[in-house]
Amino acid sequence: MQRRAAFATLGCKVNQYETESMEGLFKTHGYELVSFSEEADVYVINTCSVTQLGEKKSRQLIRRAHRMNPAAIVAVTGCYAQAEAETIRAMEGVGVVIGTRERGRIVELVEEAMASGQTQDVVGNIMEADTFEDIPLTERPLRTRAFLKIQEGCTNFCTYCIIPYTRGPLRSRPVGSIREEARRLAEGGFHEIVLTGIHLGAYGRDLTDDIDLADAAQAVLDAGQVKRLRIGSLESIEVSPKLLRLLKEDSRICHHLHLPLQAGHDVVLKAMNRHYAASEFKDLLAHLLTEVPDLAITTDIIVGFPGETDEIFEETLKYVESLPLAGMHVFPYSRRKGTPAASYPDQVEESVKKERAHRMGQLAEAKAKAYAETWLGKDVEILVERCTDGRIEGLTPQYIRVHAEGQAEEGTFLTVCPQKVTDAGLWAVVK
Ligand code: SF4
Repeated sequence: MQRRAAFATLGCKVNQYETESMEGLFKTHGYELVSFSEEADVYVINTCSVTQLGEKKSRQLIRRAHRMNPAAIVAVTGCYAQAEAETIRAMEGVGVVIGTRERGRIVELVEEAMASGQTQDVVGNIMEADTFEDIPLTERPLRTRAFLKIQEGCTNFCTYCIIPYTRGPLRSRPVGSIREEARRLAEGGFHEIVLTGIHLGAYGRDLTDDIDLADAAQAVLDAGQVKRLRIGSLESIEVSPKLLRLLKEDSRICHHLHLPLQAGHDVVLKAMNRHYAASEFKDLLAHLLTEVPDLAITTDIIVGFPGETDEIFEETLKYVESLPLAGMHVFPYSRRKGTPAASYPDQVEESVKKERAHRMGQLAEAKAKAYAETWLGKDVEILVERCTDGRIEGLTPQYIRVHAEGQAEEGTFLTVCPQKVTDAGLWAVVK
């Protein structure tokens, strides 16, 4: 009887990529991949610890898996497993606990748990990690855009962030391995590749040769057949002149950068251990838009950080309003055990955080709408992600979601002309 494996993934693009590489490992060992709502012999949950909500959802998925098949092995991996291995191990049905390393051994550990009935826990001290865990994709992701993980770990220690404690020190994927994976993905029919990492801008810092993110991007472009390259979330201060030049010179690189701001006031930026001033971030955006006028810049912002007074919040709203942003994700500050900010005085009340997130969220919507309006009547190329019942959906290079009427093949490019702004992005006609 063929064994069945089911996966659930929370969190970031890196987690998505890691799940896809683990799916490939099970497939290679003869398992059938089934959906998470079906009965399976193994349930793999790739957890997230970036917010309290991420941890709560992780626990819910573990319980759900055990309920669906109490005889199944529940294997838990990812940041929450790395941060709270003991809690995870104590949960019913958990047979394997793997943190943010050793995912290459997941099939072996699951089968050991099946054979011995003993829980396999290989969560170690992540701070000792020194090599990039290179598990190439062997299973074709069920998407039209392929994520390509090239970097692991972070040593920035922003005071609100748990990631450096769950992902460990900087580790970069060798350039040759990046080029090889990009070639495989392009030959596999992926026209857009998304470079992703935990701290993408730090790519190469741990490698001996003098290489950086621009070299990794060039390696993907050199892989041949790649039609679109998208750069994942990047620290603003790590947009190097080399990367900017590449972005200007090679039209295959999408003109979209996601640069987390996190706070719009120097008092909060300092308390967050972010290494730039609000004025510097603003100057950088102006410089980038001078160099690449059709660049879309999106960002993340945390509201309700300890010490954020009403005055600071009002000033932050005004500041963010003045930025040339195409979109913004808003996060109410989530207190993370083990991070410095968790023990800061002047914690903001949940109701106040909620109110501020609502107001910043309204500004985010208004900015995204205003930006989308600048594309009305202008022809733009989309990568078709899906086409159902005569309704096409795809993404522009600037990361705007577009819908149109018609027929088109998934994974192909289509020129459209946006006619109106919708809640989901743009409604367009096919050219
Ligand atoms: S740069 Fe800061 S926010 Fe980003 S992963 Fe590192 S510590 Fe966390």
